[in-house]
Amino acid sequence: MTATHYAVKAENIHKSFGSNEVLRGISFTAEQGKVLSIIGASGSGKSTLLRCINHLVVPDDGVVHIGTETLRSHKRRDGTAVSSDIRQLERIRARLGMVFQNFNLWSHRNVLQNLLEGPLHVQQVPKARATEHALGLLAKVGLSDKKDAYPNELSGGQQQRVAIARALAMNPDVLLFDEPTSALDPEMVGEVLRVIRQLADEGRSMILVTHEMKFAQEVSDHTIFMHNGRIEEEGPPGKLFNQPESERLRQFLLPAY
Ligand code: ADP
Ligand code: MG
Repeated sequence: MTATHYAVKAENIHKSFGSNEVLRGISFTAEQGKVLSIIGASGSGKSTLLRCINHLVVPDDGVVHIGTETLRSHKRRDGTAVSSDIRQLERIRARLGMVFQNFNLWSHRNVLQNLLEGPLHVQQVPKARATEHALGLLAKVGLSDKKDAYPNELSGGQQQRVAIARALAMNPDVLLFDEPTSALDPEMVGEVLRVIRQLADEGRSMILVTHEMKFAQEVSDHTIFMHNGRIEEEGPPGKLFNQPESERLRQFLLPAY
């Protein structure tokens, strides 16, 4: 395998839902060991773009490179988009850890079982090894004492930390976060951001969709501003947040009173 300098590279991604053209040719590079943040108004296509990376939403056109793997898709005659190689898709998805806004934990499984599900049943990791890894990850996110709890016994912030640990349990090459703190009460945002910051400091490759502008500026190496399915502006966060060139970005960054 040849080494790449990028974790994810997307080329010319297009996606429509019916007549709604949501992604209009998006290309970006997420560097290895770096944090790429994606900002933009609600409805600008951020979640769709994130989901296109692992073909949870299959692009109508465009190519996604994940490390040395390449994901392609095509449109069938009936207009639906399909991944070109389903078997490859399974393998590649395991390299991408995804954390959603609403945690998406398995409600009928306890915390430890949530972390073991993927390693045991998808990756066939021996149970003793998977359990040891899972317990280490729970310690890392500060939830060792909650391993036997069920999701509905946890706060939103705790559930999201479990979701992050669950993503890490699969040893992903890249972590994808879709507004990981938007569903949280304000007092719980900090505990989740602290975990994400720690992962950034450890040199994890991450793509972070967020409305936490201050955090995005602090933690990311590169920022993309999306508007109407296009990248309106991108660059180092210091530049993007403090000296935006686009009028739309300037408007977006204005404080909401
Ligand atoms: P964001 O995450 O930036 O708020 P989204 O990617 O969720 O934006 O949505 C962009 C647009 O795509 C919206 O108009 C939304 O209604 C539409 N959309 C997203 N997912 C679907 C879907 N599965 N089916 C139809 N329309 C969708
Ligand atoms: Mg979204």
